[in-house]
Amino acid sequence: MNNFYYEHIVELIGQSRSILVTSHYNPDGDAMGSALAMAALLRKTGKDAQVMVPNDYPAFLKWMPGNDKVMIYRNNEDGAKEIIREADIIFCLDYSALNRTDSMEDALRNSPAKKILIDHHLEPVLADFDYYLSVIQISSTSELVYRFAEGCSWLDLIDPEIATGLFVGIMTDTGSFSFACNYPETFRITASLIQAGINPEQIHRHVYDTYSENRLRLLGYCLSEKLTVLPELNTAYIALSKDELYRFQYQVGDTEGIVNYALSIENIKIAVLLTERKDRIRLSFRSKGEFSVNRIAREHFNGGGHKNAAGGDSFVSLENTILKLRQVLTQYKEEIDRSSN
Ligand code: 5GP
Ligand code: MN
Repeated sequence: MNNFYYEHIVELIGQSRSILVTSHYNPDGDAMGSALAMAALLRKTGKDAQVMVPNDYPAFLKWMPGNDKVMIYRNNEDGAKEIIREADIIFCLDYSALNRTDSMEDALRNSPAKKILIDHHLEPVLADFDYYLSVIQISSTSELVYRFAEGCSWLDLIDPEIATGLFVGIMTDTGSFSFACNYPETFRITASLIQAGINPEQIHRHVYDTYSENRLRLLGYCLSEKLTVLPELNTAYIALSKDELYRFQYQVGDTEGIVNYALSIENIKIAVLLTERKDRIRLSFRSKGEFSVNRIAREHFNGGGHKNAAGGDSFVSLENTILKLRQVLTQYKEEIDRSSN
């Protein structure tokens, strides 16, 4: 659903002097891919566009074209606040509410800029934005940015740089085309990105074949030593303490993807990765089929996301968070039993 006419948005962009493209806290492949692609697209229309994200992101996303110009809010709050204040338009990509931008939230909220949401998460807080393009049944925000370009009649501007960002977003949000990709349109759009001159095999290698030795050993440790399976709840989880992360010299992004291994076990419908951070326990949820982990994250762990992939935070100890998780899932036992996978 959207609440604007593309002609109006194109006019608004045409009249603006400075455009900011933002994405969510702990940016992932779709966040960075869609934001870099959108900024490159706007530049192709002759506009100046700056990408800004709340905090740092994994090294496996730092090879993308335009990466050297990304501004990280946390690294220069004063400079970033000024850019947010002075922007005419702020694109809000891959998040459904301003609180997903963490410490950037207040600055965004107070900016007089017109805020344009492009996103695919459940239950968006539309009041946070002036204009929105919010579609839940879609692979990724990157796919939506492609459709936005189409709406603006800008498809012929898509060059290999823009196509690279969009491909990274679609590829990472679908787990290399293994989930959230049941609609033919996702593949039609992907085909046209390849047509624009990208090298999909090379992009896949840049994102997935650039592990550090420590990251691979951390994965091995999680699978052999840390995996807990609860057959009666069709659930598998992995909980990592700060000490364990330290032991493997944890870098941002090193735990990305681990939760999917837990989900790959037969008859497991729900997988959870719990990681102890400085001030919170981070929970990353995945599910197969009907069971919605968005609900669990939203109702019990201050988070949200999608039906089959969501995240949340807990502010008690790791041990108590595990206990709470087990209690919460027990409450849902009947629903888990009934849900198909
Ligand atoms: P991940 O487990 O990969 O961090 O996140 C899975 C999905 O849930 C992503 O689409 C992400 O944007 C969303 N998500 C993660 N954490 C949160 C959160 O705290 N709140 C909301 N609303 N969505 C989240
Ligand atoms: Mn996304």
